[in-house]
Amino acid sequence: MNKYPLSEATRNRLQQTFGHFIDGEIVPSINGETMDVLDPASGERIARASAGARADVDRAVRSARRSFDDRSWRSIDPLERERRIRTMSRLLLDQKSMITELDVLDSGLISWYVDFCVDFAANGIDYYAGWPSKIEGSIPPAPEGFSVRVEREPIGVIGLITPWNGPITVFGSVAAALATGNSVILKPAEQTPMTAVLMAEIAAEAGIPPGVFNVLQGRGQEVGAGLVEHPGVDAISFTGSVATGKAIQAAAAGQVKRVTLELGGKSPFIVFPDADLEAAAAAARMAVWGASGQVCTAGSRVLVHRSVQAEFTKLVIEGTEGMTLGDGFDAATQVGPLVSSEQLERVRKYIAIGRDEGATLAVGGASPDRSGYFIEPTVFTDVKNEMRIAQEEIFGPVMSILPFDTEAEAVRIANDSLYGLAAGVWTTDLDTAGRMTSALRTGTVWINSYQMVYPSIPYGGVKLSGHGRNLGAASIEELTQLKTVWTKVGE
Ligand code: ADP
Repeated sequence: MNKYPLSEATRNRLQQTFGHFIDGEIVPSINGETMDVLDPASGERIARASAGARADVDRAVRSARRSFDDRSWRSIDPLERERRIRTMSRLLLDQKSMITELDVLDSGLISWYVDFCVDFAANGIDYYAGWPSKIEGSIPPAPEGFSVRVEREPIGVIGLITPWNGPITVFGSVAAALATGNSVILKPAEQTPMTAVLMAEIAAEAGIPPGVFNVLQGRGQEVGAGLVEHPGVDAISFTGSVATGKAIQAAAAGQVKRVTLELGGKSPFIVFPDADLEAAAAAARMAVWGASGQVCTAGSRVLVHRSVQAEFTKLVIEGTEGMTLGDGFDAATQVGPLVSSEQLERVRKYIAIGRDEGATLAVGGASPDRSGYFIEPTVFTDVKNEMRIAQEEIFGPVMSILPFDTEAEAVRIANDSLYGLAAGVWTTDLDTAGRMTSALRTGTVWINSYQMVYPSIPYGGVKLSGHGRNLGAASIEELTQLKTVWTKVGE
């Protein structure tokens, strides 16, 4: 770690345990347990974080419940709440360099990507800061003699359970939950606990009252499951793997608890012969090598029309061979490490599966001779859609290229997946784009672009990719509920 260009402030911060944040202050676990925080680029321990247990969950839920029930946040004037939320984005940007350093260290993501994540979080906060004075109910037509109004109110205590592939981006979701008047308990991934505490400090400094935004550190089985099962938590917003999403939905059913699930994907990236092949190949590389493939929307199934397959594959491979692997601080790095040794093992296992299934390994597939959790960007050609490498989410830099002959075949292959998060369509023909858009069973379709996100634009999946939407006005609906008030009108 000494080789990294870290500021004094970051180095000092790493000396302290990254604790829970409950009722306005950083606290250790009740039983004193901690867990190691590892640098994915070296495997070395860089810090410690608290490891929570059920007693810590109880404590955080009590705090969040109390803050919701005593209306300490939602009773504040809406315009004042807007000011305080907006202050969070200013404070976040003031601390951008420390936050970026901590997230690069913690997640292994490259610093320009983390920079983008900080800006995305700040934009999300600014977007949601505009909502408190604009969330409205309605007055539906009612029978004679009655006046009816429908209020839109907060749900209560929201458990926000998040993954490790962009720790600071979660701050936008926190802002959404706050803008709707809820209290929040954030449980960051155990691999990336560090910046969650800084978010809570920023919120406190911006004037969010104690207990309205708590952070609980710890492992999924303990703290995550503890939040899902706790009767004091009214709704769960989860982003992560399908297996965990299923477990959460099943556990939440016991209390008929509301859940929003943003799960994985195996997104098709479809290239028609009339597309700008250079632009498509560059976007395909970015769509799978970005964040080392550890993004839900990775365009990991690349469907290419047979007539341009050779040319397109050549462009992808030429841009991939010789990419520089390294730590996220090194300006020369093009591909960072995976987040953990478990993730590295998982990706290696899938590369072996791809070979065994008979796909052709066109480039990559090996780990460089260095410490840390690195794997080369890997392209398989001659992939058939029924192969496991085309059906299962790998969450690493592994691209499968599959040929198609007709538009109908492209649709069939694209939809032949348990997932339905997103799709990319590359064509210069508006009619092709229009027909593909209607035929694809995914939550998002990007045409001649990929992985665009913006705070006002809803995002989420269908099928095993989950349900519910994040971002935009859709998330305001997800985070509120309706209350109907009937009033008898006197004669
Ligand atoms: P991955 O396998 O990619 O690490 P997970 O979906 O398991 O992804 O993790 C995403 C988040 O879900 C993390 O914060 C993790 O701690 C949490 N988590 C894991 N298991 C559970 C569970 N059974 N209940 C609730 N949260 C969980």
